[in-house]
Amino acid sequence: MAEVLVFVDHVDGAVRKPTLELLTLARRLGEPLAVALGTGATDTIPTLAEHGVTRVLTHEADEYADYLVVPKVDALQAAVEAVSPVAVLVPSSAEGKEVAARLAIRIGSGIITDAIDVEASEQGPVATQSAFAAAYTTKSRVSLGTPVITVKPNSAPVETAPSAVVAAPLAVSFSEAAHGTKVTERTVSQSTGRPELTEAAIVVAGGRGVGGADHFPLIEALADSLGAAVGASRAAVDAGWYPHTNQIGQTGKSVSPQLYIANGISGAIQHRAGMQTSKTIVAVNKDPEAPIFDLVDYGVVGDLFDVVPQLTESITAHRN
Ligand code: FAD
Repeated sequence: MAEVLVFVDHVDGAVRKPTLELLTLARRLGEPLAVALGTGATDTIPTLAEHGVTRVLTHEADEYADYLVVPKVDALQAAVEAVSPVAVLVPSSAEGKEVAARLAIRIGSGIITDAIDVEASEQGPVATQSAFAAAYTTKSRVSLGTPVITVKPNSAPVETAPSAVVAAPLAVSFSEAAHGTKVTERTVSQSTGRPELTEAAIVVAGGRGVGGADHFPLIEALADSLGAAVGASRAAVDAGWYPHTNQIGQTGKSVSPQLYIANGISGAIQHRAGMQTSKTIVAVNKDPEAPIFDLVDYGVVGDLFDVVPQLTESITAHRN
């Protein structure tokens, strides 16, 4: 059976959820073959085997942590040349997209980014993308070389499929460019205890309607009742009410959770660009004409200061 190469995103051997989602999609296309790089690469093997991977290629070297993306591109190129997969799947993170784009150029292949689904077809994998604030859904296929496809988090369920796995070291020789950009310092960001925004299954966001930094704990309380991440519109972050790292939209982060709850957000096109592929969208807004209501599955016309605390209370009561 044809092999599908999956680039493993992991932290010291702990495989991140978007990679497990990629494995669900990879199994539709062929046999998943995983490439795990850097410190803890071999520690990923048991988790990968649990999710249907039949072959793991690993390579540990300081370069993966000490330099930006090129060492990873070198390794993936070596893997593609060694195994000739039918497709390469990469998580759609900022780093994943850069790695994928550089790889596609290296191997002379077409690339599709930010797919929300991937299916098999006789002519090769077909990727679904959502475009122009979800106004269009496109299906496309790479017509040149080995398709390189990046897939947004939360696009597929994580499914266990235990399999026998063969692990082998990957032979990698780093290119001259690998040592071009060195990481000189790292600062650990303070953990909120909430899930990472771009990977979260539920996102609760606040906009200008929240009215100030002092009121954002209202949004955080709703998020915490659901185990969700907190996002914000640009209006809210530009006003200094919430950190820029939590901005969702065209010039912020792109999220694609199972559930997105927008509170006091009007639904400007630039905001929609970052959350349009969310599976279920709920909005709380006091203006019945707010454009966000064109997009929602469930809309609440009301004052968020009335609605959000009640919502938090009933979710908390339901969960206890
Ligand atoms: P507003 O548009 O002011 O909407 C506030 C909403 O809150 C209103 O609908 C109002 O009815 C409602 N409201 C007020 N009080 C209450 C209440 N008590 N209860 C319930 N509802 C209430 N924006 C982004 O979000 N992300 C981006 O990445 C982004 N990138 C941009 C890039 C460019 C190049 C440009 C030009 C703009 C960008 N913007 C972005 C800005 C975008 O155009 C909007 O200005 C912004 O999204 C508006 O944020 P908002 O919805 O919070 O505020």
